Amino acid sequence: MADLRVAMARLEAAHSLMLGEVERRGLPALSGFGSTTGWLIARSGDPAGVCRSRVGVARALPHMPRTREVFSRGGLSEPRVRMLARAWETNPEAFERDEATLMSHAGNLHADGFGHLLRHWRRLADHEGHLREARRAYQARRLWASVTWDGSVRIDGDLDPEGGATVITALGSMVDPTYRDPNDPRSPAQRRADALVEICRRHLDDTLRPTIGGERPHLTLTVDLDTLQNHPGGACDLDPVGPIPPQDARRVGCDATITTLATRGGQPFSVARATRIVSGPLRRALAARDHHCTHPGCTTPAAWCDAHHIHHWADGGPTRLDNLQLLCRRHHRLTHHQQE
Ligand SMILES: [Zn+2]
Ligand SMILES: [Zn+2]
Repeated sequence: MADLRVAMARLEAAHSLMLGEVERRGLPALSGFGSTTGWLIARSGDPAGVCRSRVGVARALPHMPRTREVFSRGGLSEPRVRMLARAWETNPEAFERDEATLMSHAGNLHADGFGHLLRHWRRLADHEGHLREARRAYQARRLWASVTWDGSVRIDGDLDPEGGATVITALGSMVDPTYRDPNDPRSPAQRRADALVEICRRHLDDTLRPTIGGERPHLTLTVDLDTLQNHPGGACDLDPVGPIPPQDARRVGCDATITTLATRGGQPFSVARATRIVSGPLRRALAARDHHCTHPGCTTPAAWCDAHHIHHWADGGPTRLDNLQLLCRRHHRLTHHQQE
């Protein structure tokens, strides 16, 4: 594998130099392309991001003699060269001065460590440029949350350093190790996903939030009473993502942090006011009795739990302390999926 990596780096280097030559000779324009990146996308079929970064390396390489030499020998991998090319782009003069120093670290530092080193170098080499870059990163901040064809939501985006640090710190605080159950089978990525949802859920539950159009926005679930009573086939729609399984509707309905708009035959049947099915005082009484999730062995604190109806209210179960139990989100889901 080590031999193959050397060979791959040498091929990448040859490819980069040839791409630089293609651009120098103006071949993309001659074949009717507005940019070298567009030309490379059409020729290689590779994604735009990959092509853009290849063109970036090809443009930088002629100005990075030491990097080019080691890359061509196969002594430096393409991802490292890409990092160095980005450093050159931000400040060509300082890079020319410091190339030897940066190169001496490129081979023996871990990718994260090398990235860190380059960021420090950039800050020291060019204060103004560093400020410009921070402004550019701030302007380039963006976030997408889009519903995919199967109803899941894809989250994607870029944050400036301060915004990103805020999000990472908040996610970290939500997966506090003291709340961890040794039998928790979730992966770190699943924990982060749950942490993000938990942060948003608490924001929606916060009664101090401003109202919009007289309402505090919360989840809207449109569901037939029949469906809620576990007769499949009726409407069961979560706005804006679309249909969800009836088991999930019953679980969401258990502890109504939602406004339930019940429908019969597609027509609104009753419009419940935005009140909690389990009222504040009842919830506090439940927390005082159960303290934590009541699933055997789980100690997730009350703040992280739902109030589960043992006998569901949709089937006539009362919303009383003796028919309620605290369950963490994970065990609440498990309970509904096992029962039904
Ligand atoms: Zn429940
Ligand atoms: Zn639990």
